[in-house]
Amino acid sequence: MAENSPIPTYIVVIFIISPLISTIGNSKPCSVPLSHYNKFPALDIAGKLLADPESLTSASTDFGHIVKENPIAVLYPSSTQDILSLIKEAYNSSVPFGIAARGNGHSTRGQAMAHVGVVVEMSALKNHQNGSRVAISGDNFSGFYADVGGEQLWIDVLKATLEHGLTPVSFTDYLYLTVGGTLSNAGISGQAFRYGPQIANVYEMDVVTGKGELMTCSANKNSDLFYGVLGGLGQFGIITRARIALETAPKRVKWVRMLYSNFSTFTKDQEYLISFNGRRQTEALNYLEGLLLNHRGSPNNWRSSFFPSSDHSRIISKVTKHGIIYCLEVAKYYDDHTKNTVDKELQQLIKDLSYLPGLRFEKDVSYIEFLNRVRSGELKLQSQGLWDVPHPWLNLFVPKSRIADFNNGVFKKIVLERNITTGPVLIYPMNRNKWDDRMSTVIPEEDVFYTVGFLHSSGFDNWEDFDEQNNEIFKFCNDAGIKIKQYLAHHTTKAGWINHFGSKWRTFKERKAQFDPKKILSPGQRIFNNNI
Ligand code: FAD
Repeated sequence: MAENSPIPTYIVVIFIISPLISTIGNSKPCSVPLSHYNKFPALDIAGKLLADPESLTSASTDFGHIVKENPIAVLYPSSTQDILSLIKEAYNSSVPFGIAARGNGHSTRGQAMAHVGVVVEMSALKNHQNGSRVAISGDNFSGFYADVGGEQLWIDVLKATLEHGLTPVSFTDYLYLTVGGTLSNAGISGQAFRYGPQIANVYEMDVVTGKGELMTCSANKNSDLFYGVLGGLGQFGIITRARIALETAPKRVKWVRMLYSNFSTFTKDQEYLISFNGRRQTEALNYLEGLLLNHRGSPNNWRSSFFPSSDHSRIISKVTKHGIIYCLEVAKYYDDHTKNTVDKELQQLIKDLSYLPGLRFEKDVSYIEFLNRVRSGELKLQSQGLWDVPHPWLNLFVPKSRIADFNNGVFKKIVLERNITTGPVLIYPMNRNKWDDRMSTVIPEEDVFYTVGFLHSSGFDNWEDFDEQNNEIFKFCNDAGIKIKQYLAHHTTKAGWINHFGSKWRTFKERKAQFDPKKILSPGQRIFNNNI
């Protein structure tokens, strides 16, 4: 951030007298009364609202580098109270303005932006409030939990809990994401088949609603808000604290990858392994994912460097032979008590799998090294200037009953024919019964469903080629009647969102009317503020 430049009164006035296109409600152009905005500098937060170029530029971009929306100001809150003041101001105003919490800005389609509104830079909370904003409580009898600020990065939550020998149970592949950001989506990774997504491991939250009220919510208290906010795409409130379930942390991880040329064998083995999913089931795996390897990328990519270079040529020859091969990735955690049994338990689980003979690879790494496996790839790309590039990602949930059709129509046809996919492509199944249908996230209506993630990186001049491929995939699924749902969804029309939420739309809309009736929050999702 540039050396402190709180918005001076005259800048506020300039912003305000220019007729603004409101993104709120009916999206008609409107002149914002000067008198209203003159009140801003009088607010206790005036000194924390900045409009210097650096703040505005940072808040108008994200990891996607595809959408750009300029806010009029950025709030750097030093307390929850600051967020309350801002939202109250917007709510009580005759011309409400949009407000978006920005976690780490790792959305790909402008979801944390606020066109001519105010972006709340959540990371500012870290620097102000006392302590680390990760507080651990509980006991062996009733269990442990961490109260964490919504702005906290999962890597910091993990490090703080590990100091107590504890850990959250469900993660994302990459840990430099915020608690508020992932809880607004779902938060998935290879642990989800057994422990559920991150949203299924939250006991309680403090949320500042779109009416400017600070509410504590849980399954038993203000439950509509609780279930609405989890997976709620930032539509109902800003999460300032979340109480996250913790368990005893393991020390190390047996990490295994196995290669397949046959898709149905690959998915059969994945589905077999996720059928062992009891939380207390000691023999079950702790993590399961899968990825697709094709000839355009190296066997290793930024998502994790796993295969030793001495094995690359063997792997590449299989890819060349089959066009696409599939990689099943599993992990089993262990500690001092289980170090003598872990190999046997793992062997028991994978002994009947049908991967290609000789193409099984193993690693033994520390727990944190495993969970933080994406970081080294990120740092490498950053040093090469290849991290801050467009990311036309596509993340889907696909029902199990149609995953073979998806493979034939998408991986074996569209992906091979277009021949542009280089980035990691993830594919792994999850169990629906580990999700709570009262939460806002939408998933397919089958007991088992897959997540498929095309994590493309592109140049600034060719990201549209990837979006064309994404559109072809949508069209194929639509024509073939494959009832996919987008994860980290991006829809450009209201009809698209209504279709996305399906039977959940009514509740979603009612919760919006209840907690953010003036449609102030997270306008960048374009659900209720759609200009189209
Ligand atoms: P932002 O992008 O800043 O915000 C996302 C949305 O949440 C916005 O609408 C914003 O307004 C809202 N929001 C932010 N903070 C709050 C808050 N405190 N209260 C209420 N609303 C808030 N996702 C997975 O599930 N699994 C993965 O394995 C995974 N891997 C990823 C790897 C990389 C490299 C990247 C870039 C993303 C990955 N994601 C993954 C996606 C990630 O979950 C989303 O980008 C998510 O939005 C979190 O990012 P963020 O914390 O930067 O939130």
